[in-house]
Amino acid sequence: MMRQAVFPARYVQGPGALGRFGSEAARIGTRIYGIVDAGLPDGVIDGLNTIAITLTMERVAGACTELAIASAAEAAMKAGADAIAGFGGGKTIDLARATADKLNLPFISIPTVAASDAPCSALAVIYDEEGHVLRDQFVRWNPQLVLVDSTVISAAPVRLFIAGIGDALATYEEAIACYRSGASNMTGGAQTRLAMAVAETCRATLFEHGAQAVADCRASRSSEAFEAVLEATVLMSGVGFESGGVAAAHAIHHGLAALAETHHMLHGEKVAFGVLVELALNDADDETLAQYVAFNRSVGLPATLGDLGIINIDEALTVIIERATRAGEIIYNEPVAVTPIAVEAAILRANKFGDKE
Ligand SMILES: [Zn+2]
Repeated sequence: MMRQAVFPARYVQGPGALGRFGSEAARIGTRIYGIVDAGLPDGVIDGLNTIAITLTMERVAGACTELAIASAAEAAMKAGADAIAGFGGGKTIDLARATADKLNLPFISIPTVAASDAPCSALAVIYDEEGHVLRDQFVRWNPQLVLVDSTVISAAPVRLFIAGIGDALATYEEAIACYRSGASNMTGGAQTRLAMAVAETCRATLFEHGAQAVADCRASRSSEAFEAVLEATVLMSGVGFESGGVAAAHAIHHGLAALAETHHMLHGEKVAFGVLVELALNDADDETLAQYVAFNRSVGLPATLGDLGIINIDEALTVIIERATRAGEIIYNEPVAVTPIAVEAAILRANKFGDKE
């Protein structure tokens, strides 16, 4: 296997970063087509500096579907766009990313929440018209620019920022699993040493600054802890998962997502419990499990099935295990023998630990 790693070409993060939109976008194109999350407060994109560029904006509600991509691509073509920008959460970013790929144009990623690994990656999750995941689409290029305004992120609900921490918590555990098993990363290549270094720094940053960052975000206070954790959840976790690989934590997420009871929970919240299960599956000692449970509690992430809204554990186990251990699933990237019995034992041990701590 070749060593492969992918990155956004340019990353800019800080308070008021959106003020640089015009000058940053002008490096990439002159006629930018912006796809904007309909739920985004007007104030966020009003008064964007567009001196050096022409910006056409379209507000979109709803998911990243084939229909939405086709419609956005047609509108962008009519506007004569030479680059596509996406402003919003994961679904809007994915729609803009897939639209840019369809037109073979550069993509500018402007996350207005930091709830997942979407902003820096080349992955677009495509939904069907009924709201179910249709497929994962890897586009040709990572974003040409990721512009993260920390003032905008801290104004969004704190729960989204916490969910981003949950998604980022999986980055190291899944990268080390792929390293140990020799599984390929999201690009189909072998890990680079750099990817593992990124994943390690991601974890260290979360443990050192996570609780403080959440407190600062809640108080709308700008701080080094908040900026550090924002970098960990957006840049480090984005690069780390894609070039490091994924494994049990996300497989358990997929299992949890198959349960109606967890539909109100966010991606990163389900992943955070998946991390505990992944540790248990790898026979982590009690001290390590306790440390991760304490971390989840300190930032407000779930540590038990009950925290995720699951009451009937026996019924839930059947669904989670069936979905997580399908043939070809990412759970087989783990360096241990994965069987339904081993996964069940890991879920129960993680859940018991979360209850106890
Ligand atoms: Zn994720």
